[in-house]
This record gives sequence, structure tokens and C-alpha cells, in this order.
Amino acid sequence: MAGALEGRVALVTGASRGIGYHLALRLASEGAHVIAVARTVGGLEELDDAIKAQGGAATLVPLDLLDMDGIDRLGGAIDERWGKLDILIANAGMLGVLSPIGHIQAKVYDKTMRLNVDSTWRVIRATDLLLRRSDAGRAVVMSSGAAHSAKAYWGLYAASKAACEAFVKSWANETRSLPLRVNSVNPGATRTAMRALAMPGEDPQTLPSPAEVAEKILPLTFAGLAETGRLFDVRQNRFLTYRDPE
Ligand code: NDP
Repeated sequence: MAGALEGRVALVTGASRGIGYHLALRLASEGAHVIAVARTVGGLEELDDAIKAQGGAATLVPLDLLDMDGIDRLGGAIDERWGKLDILIANAGMLGVLSPIGHIQAKVYDKTMRLNVDSTWRVIRATDLLLRRSDAGRAVVMSSGAAHSAKAYWGLYAASKAACEAFVKSWANETRSLPLRVNSVNPGATRTAMRALAMPGEDPQTLPSPAEVAEKILPLTFAGLAETGRLFDVRQNRFLTYRDPE
């Protein structure tokens, strides 16, 4: 049976593990050709094996997303090979450090902002035109509940995710008249390496698996999606408007 994404081309950043890995796997199982980006070649190869085992296809792109020129080159390569992009999952991110704002080291601040904000913007910039060329372009930018919760010690990560959401809201307003739909996602606490780093004392088995979370995000890539410029909350399994209490 043909999948919902047959013939679609999907770019997934942070595809070597966690939520990105499982989302890439599901996109491929629905028929999309997945372009999988991360630094860890072993993780990408594992994904490739799993995609092939289910009869799908992927292109692996080992890339450090701190390399902004590399992101631009990737956009150029997608243009050359496919001339369009149907799905963008801007998922790669890092926690940085949980720390009082006054104690954050400048080096840690710079790296976290450079990955979570600068590289996300750069990926958006490199793919915007390609997504506009699709008859059903869909972009998902991974945010976090932290962007809204104002928790002590989470300021760096929270600011980086709030910046991503701001980009998405403006991008949606720039593209509202097109078939393109762009949304932020709050996956909620998920059983991944990043969550373990943030909450070392927590029992991971109490959390949803990245496969379960990916399943809830998948419909945001489908052609039937109407929403744009909104925040999808995985735990509540619904879109929030930015004025909704959370
Ligand atoms: P993981 O730490 O499990 O995975 C992060 C992914 O990002 C990896 O594939 C990693 O690949 C990639 N990545 C990190 N740094 C770089 C880099 N410099 N260049 C290229 N790729 C990079 O994270 P999660 O799956 O938990 O998180 C995915 C997204 O969801 C993130 O944006 C996160 O902020 C967000 N999120 C997660 C929550 C959770 O509870 N897990 C809750 C709320 C939001 P590699 O190291 O191979 O490069």
C-alpha cells in the first residue's frame, strides 16, 4: 500500500538518534526520501539500515550544523538533485547548561545559541525557496515547553527555543498565501539522551519513547494539514494558539 508521503523529499536534522531518528524512520516508512543530517556517522548508518529494512530510501549527510556554509551547500545540493523540498524537520538541538543566568559561560552560551538559533535559521534560509516550490511544503521546527515556562536555570535553552518559535511565526505570516505550512512543536519530556542530561535523577521509563512522540508529530507533514504559524503540543496532541494558557 502506498504511504501518505510517496514521492516526497524530507530533510531531517538531528537524525542520528532520539526524536529526529524516529521521525526520519516514520517519514521513510510513509514513502518519503529522507535526507538525514547529523554528526554521528554510526547513528546515521543505523538509521539507513532501518530505513532500507522497511523498503525505504535515505541520503545520509554527516554535517556539523555549526558549519553554516555546509548548510548552504546542502541547500544547493538538494536544489540540484530534486529542485524542491517537501518536508523540513528542523530538529537538531542541544541543552547547553542548566544554570543561573549570571553564571552561564560565554562559550557555552555561544555554542548553544549558534546551534539552536543560528543553525535553525540558516537551515530555514537554505530551504525556504525549495519548500515554496513544493505543492505541499511542510516545516516542523522543534521547540520546547521551556520556551514558555520561565523555569529557573533553563534561561539559555528557553531563550533559544523562544527565538525559534518567533522565526516560525513570522515565516508563517510571510508564506500564508502559499501551500507551505510551518509550525513549531513542543514534543514534551521524551526518553532521549538530551532529557537524561537535563534530568539525570529521572526514571526514563516513565517518559514516552521517541518513537511514540514521532508518531504524533508525523501528521504535521501530511498534505492535508491546514494549520500554519502555530505550536503543536505533543502531550496534548493538539495545536495551541499562542494566546492559549498551557
Ligand atoms: P538528542 O540529544 O537525543 O538528539 C539530538 C540530535 O541533534 C542528534 O541527532 C544530534 O546528532 C543532533 N545534533 C546535535 N548537535 C549537532 C550538531 N552540532 N550538528 C548536527 N547535528 C547535531 O535530542 P532529542 O531527540 O531529545 O531532541 C530533539 C529536539 O527536541 C531538540 O531540538 C530538543 O531541544 C527538542 N526537545 C526535546 C525534549 C526531550 O525531552 N527530549 C523536550 C523538548 C524539546 P549528532 O550528535 O550525531 O550530531
